[in-house]
Amino acid sequence: MSLIDQSSEKFLGIDIGASSIKYGWGNPTAGIEYFDSENLEERSRAGIISAISIVLQKCQHSIGLDKIKSIGAGTPGKLNKNTHKLVGINPNLSDWTEIDPIIAFPERLREKVVIDNDANLMTLAEAKLLPEANAVLGITIGSGIGCGFVLEGRIYHGAHGFAMELGHNIVCASGEKCNCGKAGCLEAYASVTGMLQAANKKIGVSDISIVDFLKASESNQSLHNILDDSLQYLSLAASNLVINLDADAIVIGGGVTEIGEYPLKRLMNLLYQHLPVDNRDSIVIKKAHWGNKAGVMGGILLASDFYSLRNRNCNQI
Ligand SMILES: [Zn+2]
Repeated sequence: MSLIDQSSEKFLGIDIGASSIKYGWGNPTAGIEYFDSENLEERSRAGIISAISIVLQKCQHSIGLDKIKSIGAGTPGKLNKNTHKLVGINPNLSDWTEIDPIIAFPERLREKVVIDNDANLMTLAEAKLLPEANAVLGITIGSGIGCGFVLEGRIYHGAHGFAMELGHNIVCASGEKCNCGKAGCLEAYASVTGMLQAANKKIGVSDISIVDFLKASESNQSLHNILDDSLQYLSLAASNLVINLDADAIVIGGGVTEIGEYPLKRLMNLLYQHLPVDNRDSIVIKKAHWGNKAGVMGGILLASDFYSLRNRNCNQI
């Protein structure tokens, strides 16, 4: 618990996505006071750095960067917590890997920037709304499957920072090819990319949006089966995580869950049914509250924690 009154302080949250950089400032007490986004003109390393530069210029113009106590940024991809570098394949931002994302910030700001995985930040933002829950699992369903775990208010990273890669849990031996290079990963079945690829492969449906896929699945049995498989695999993998981690809350978000036709209730029911009775008694299963602002809110919370910790360490010296 911070001894510093942060109710009027400003922290900047930045959420790097494949099509835009969302950002906003606020603090843990007030929430998000300002929210906006900057389009990503190109999905290259230079494109991301340029968009973040524009975001920082806009912040400078609006409130002044000197008013920002610290900055919390979320990025897709696997972050090595020891080297601070993104590692492996980053499917939607293929040029955004094997680098420390801090390079997107000017040197004078870097000491006040803290960076984490975007699904971790979503989970942090949602966990803040569940003060009764000690072990909160967050899952995002979009072009990929993201996952985070917040234990007693802190993001769990594992030994290297690679924890909670739920999307790359293998759910089917020798199954469908995944973007990560392996086969049979959950993401190859339950993500938007996975479902649309299955529609193309199994019944030759191509160039269909996820909204049209979901609408058509209500009357087309083949599409319905693809969607049903995705729910089965996702609910099994998620319930196994709840059992392994003894989570007391699971929050499901991501772009797909904002589409009315996506059977989120059915997914939640399946997940619940897979749980042992002891887990069922105490689990909270809910839709994410923050929607597309989750990464920014998580960034604000992470920045606030980072600032408190830095101050406490300085005061102890
Ligand atoms: Zn994979």
